[in-house]
Amino acid sequence: MTSFGFLKSTIFDKEERKQQYQSHIRGLNAYDRHKKFINDYVNYYGKDRSSNLKLPIKTDQDTLREGYRFIRSEEDDMDPSWEQRLVKRYYDKLFKEYCLADMSQYKSGKIGLRWRTEKEVMSGKGQFICGNKNCNEKDGLASYEVNFCYFEAGENKQALVKLVTCERCACKLNYKRQKEKEQLEKRQLEQDRRKRSRSKSDDDLDDFQESKERRRKGKRALTSASDHKIDDDDNLDEFLEGMFP
Ligand SMILES: [Zn+2]
Repeated sequence: MTSFGFLKSTIFDKEERKQQYQSHIRGLNAYDRHKKFINDYVNYYGKDRSSNLKLPIKTDQDTLREGYRFIRSEEDDMDPSWEQRLVKRYYDKLFKEYCLADMSQYKSGKIGLRWRTEKEVMSGKGQFICGNKNCNEKDGLASYEVNFCYFEAGENKQALVKLVTCERCACKLNYKRQKEKEQLEKRQLEQDRRKRSRSKSDDDLDDFQESKERRRKGKRALTSASDHKIDDDDNLDEFLEGMFP
């Protein structure tokens, strides 16, 4: 039989471990945190299930969950620790968050997209390293929402997913549109020049450019507020902040 004193000390230990864990990860930058979470995930949940894992191309959340289901002990299922839940939430989120791009035909506006393999997820490719499969840039990354169309089980499907790229690759991503835009602007400028005074037309053009840019690029400035779930349990998301560019 479990004594009250024993229970109390177990709860205390658990709470203490959680606080130590929290203060440790607070001191890490996003990439180091990523490495720690992935490492801990493997420690907590084992790596066996991952070795012969086939990545599903489905984007449906339930299907993804099914695909990444792992075998846990009964004890874990009953009462996973805060740390376990945190790293699991992080790990699960990674797979449905980002894709990688083949930009070899960017000039014709063709960008090939695919999901990341588990190895790529773990290495941070497409999250902390540019998502163009032939680029290894780590600086100046930003995320873009892209429309991912694919064929699966006899059906055409599509989903909005995130693609992280460096500045140079972001230009490739938008190369064709940018060219079209420049031509449009050139024409617009010509028209305005004919119609109005110069200073007035410049103001108009700036407004035009800005709204057009926002609509077309779909660049997403991720704020913690926009992505924050209200039904957050135990502030897990607080410790994932800044990890999803
Ligand atoms: Zn790049």
